[in-house]
Amino acid sequence: MRSPPHLALFAIAVLASRSSALAQEPERRQAEQQQAEEQQPEEQQADEQRSPRTRHPSAELDLQDCEREWFDAARLQDLVDETVPLVEKHAELQFEERPVVRVLNADSWQRLVACEMPDARDQSLAVAITLALHVPERGEVFLNQPIAYELLRTRADDDQKRRRIAQATLAHELTHVLQEQHFELPSRMRAERSNDNKRKLKFLVEGHATLVEERVAAAEFGIAGYAEWSRKRHLKARRMAYTRGRDYLANLAEDGGERAIHEALGGPLPSWPAFVRVAMRKPKRPRDAADAETDEADAKREHERKR
Ligand SMILES: [Zn+2]
Repeated sequence: MRSPPHLALFAIAVLASRSSALAQEPERRQAEQQQAEEQQPEEQQADEQRSPRTRHPSAELDLQDCEREWFDAARLQDLVDETVPLVEKHAELQFEERPVVRVLNADSWQRLVACEMPDARDQSLAVAITLALHVPERGEVFLNQPIAYELLRTRADDDQKRRRIAQATLAHELTHVLQEQHFELPSRMRAERSNDNKRKLKFLVEGHATLVEERVAAAEFGIAGYAEWSRKRHLKARRMAYTRGRDYLANLAEDGGERAIHEALGGPLPSWPAFVRVAMRKPKRPRDAADAETDEADAKREHERKR
């Protein structure tokens, strides 16, 4: 790779942590939150008192765009325009407004991550490994510089797979924009005051984006084994909302088509037993060996956790 060394490191972190934006907030953070709730009842109380209608503090940030020499805003827009119809096709939803995707300078990215993930144990790590952030209150998606670099700087003779993987992440983020435009789902999740409901909403938000991301990667980019690879990454990082949420929606679609997914995204939340029943059901279409293998590891891990 010819990128500067710190970018190369970033890129490694990106590949190693193949998660997504909101992704960072997820399970790891949930554990931290749980801990924080036990230790800091006052802070929790303050948070609960915040009205759901209060604008998220990220909405007020003054954010500056990336000015690196490799950054090409027009090229990024081309890539977004190229990805939009793929996301629409696989989500079976149309964008009501053209999505806005930005890449920030280092200082602005740092401030945004601090605002979005105030509980992160290690802020500099969060800044480095967060791939992207969808901020529904702003109606904007932000890509971290390393992933933008993968998207924009891949030359014709480079490994196109890396660019396609980055583009699959872009598809994931654009799916969050669709969720907001049609169901106000991400902002509903952020405003939700009950932790239990928030968690359910997270399974829907991340499960849906993961499912669309996988479909785009497999059907449009021809990346073999992408779904299995993605699942392994999420399981390793214990991001269950991504895997179980995805399975829940994929299984709903097996019975009721895409309409069943849309009804789930826009309708009342299921009970946990109902959710588990659908999410854990074996898919009707046979899975391949790799998938079965990771499921086994998943089950084993769950079993160990219960002990
Ligand atoms: Zn996401």
